Amino acid sequence: MPYVVTENCQQCRFTDCVTVCPVDAFHGDAEMVYIDPDACIDCGACEPQCPVKAIKEDREAEKNPSLASWVAINRDKAPGLPLITKKAAPLPTAEAKKKTLGY
Ligand code: SF4
Ligand code: SF4
Repeated sequence: MPYVVTENCQQCRFTDCVTVCPVDAFHGDAEMVYIDPDACIDCGACEPQCPVKAIKEDREAEKNPSLASWVAINRDKAPGLPLITKKAAPLPTAEAKKKTLGY
């Protein structure tokens, strides 16, 4: 049961999560990162690292339909995007997005 990155990561991309992943499961585009479910070993290390709580366990999708669409988006997008393994500067919009989200 892999973890997934959800909408809170959009315009944010703090990338605190990628440095703790033991299997390099994170891929990214210009807007956010995604977890490759075939690479993720479900260790949970990334989830508490995200300052905007964007990372969720896919098993929560049973109770949360919007999470189900993010499970599909992570699965579809991650394999075709570049691997992100090092912390990068957050997007210029990140602090404003974080404030909007209440973190
Ligand atoms: S730490 Fe959170 S906001 Fe930052 S890249 Fe990872 S999932 Fe996205
Ligand atoms: S749960 Fe573990 S293996 Fe999966 S993406 Fe997060 S840190 Fe990587």
